[in-house]
Amino acid sequence: MTDKSISPVTDLLAKPFPQKDAHGAISMPVYITAAFEFETAEEMEDAFLGKNGKHTYSRISNPTVEAFESRVQSVSGAKHAMAVASGMAAISGVFTTIAYAGSNIVTSPHLFGNTFSLFCFTLKEFGVEPRFCNLLDVNEVEKQIDENTCAVYTEIITNPHMEIADLAALANVAHQKGVPLIADSTLVPWTAFKAPDFGVDIEITSSTKYISGGATSIGGIILDYQTFDWRQSKKLKSLAEKTREYAFQIKFRGEIGRNIGAIMAPQTAFLQNLGLETMDLRFKEAGKSCLELALFLQTLPMITNVNYNGLPSNPFYEIGKKQFGDYPGAMLTFCLKDRAACFAFINRVKVIRRATNLFDNKSLIIHPESTIYGSLTPAYKKIAEVPDNMLRLSVGLENAEDLKADILQALIR
Ligand SMILES: *Cc1c(COP(=O)(O)O)cnc(C)c1O
Repeated sequence: MTDKSISPVTDLLAKPFPQKDAHGAISMPVYITAAFEFETAEEMEDAFLGKNGKHTYSRISNPTVEAFESRVQSVSGAKHAMAVASGMAAISGVFTTIAYAGSNIVTSPHLFGNTFSLFCFTLKEFGVEPRFCNLLDVNEVEKQIDENTCAVYTEIITNPHMEIADLAALANVAHQKGVPLIADSTLVPWTAFKAPDFGVDIEITSSTKYISGGATSIGGIILDYQTFDWRQSKKLKSLAEKTREYAFQIKFRGEIGRNIGAIMAPQTAFLQNLGLETMDLRFKEAGKSCLELALFLQTLPMITNVNYNGLPSNPFYEIGKKQFGDYPGAMLTFCLKDRAACFAFINRVKVIRRATNLFDNKSLIIHPESTIYGSLTPAYKKIAEVPDNMLRLSVGLENAEDLKADILQALIR
């Protein structure tokens, strides 16, 4: 049982795994095996029908992955957690569970690059329409929702535009129309962001970022808060008549996840289990440095548009505080004169590393327009609105003074 008087991290560290290891290992061992064997045909039948909780095949479930999922569940407060191969597997898994040909997703065009591509190309070819609108304007959102809307979808802080929608207001319009609110929470971990407090029904996270603990592995998580009545969903209606709040997890666990074959690998689950234990510590440390760097960048004349939601001058400062507390993540963006100035800056940094990814222990710099959005046609680049004089910095655990010095030396020519 979770003791509410202790912090989620303490609880996580204090509690043994639900399934005890045969040797009492304190870290869940990595069960690298494809299949699990049985004494009898009867036992095997029960396992395949999910009646005895036994594992059968690691594309369906695995003890190491299950241990990770149970810890994710207790630290996030979700009713059910499903660990998959990547953040993108989580997002595509959610939409293969709820979307259908003829349905639409109401969302912003300001999205992580592959999510944008999933909506504009991959899902579109299966007859699912992305309906881009301004999620900061709930009246506009309300107008976009119709009887074929399968979800309102948002990133809690959009990457890399760094907008923050009012989640409670979004949930309100979505729920009034009988539609779930689905949010990508990759930019702020569960210790600082409690999705159900703001009406989010399904949450997805790229565990590659904060959770993996120093960029060790690729992973994703789908969190189900069991708050949505899926009888309102055209696709899950008949399943939900029988299974009520469990409809989403049953559809994903029993069909979609195993058919798509995107369950997390046990090696990844081991690494991310370990990462989870230090997630909050790393997040707070990097968040502190990120604010310090944002304040510093603002004082430099060659730099414009320093975008970090933790700056009191940022238009999303108040809503960020309300939804995430003191540190709205550890990623910021800023602009230089032009694309060439951005490239020159990237080529000169010595402490900051030239790489994509977020929330590594190392600080990472990237020019999103030429990389993450680089393969989009000019027409799609226009929809995505990623400026070509903008750099994205993910702040790591280096000493903040060393990062400032690196930025200064990279700017001055
Ligand atoms: C990285 C990222 C993803 C995709 O996660 P992967 O683990 O790389 O598949 C999705 N959403 C956001 C906001 C991200 O930053």
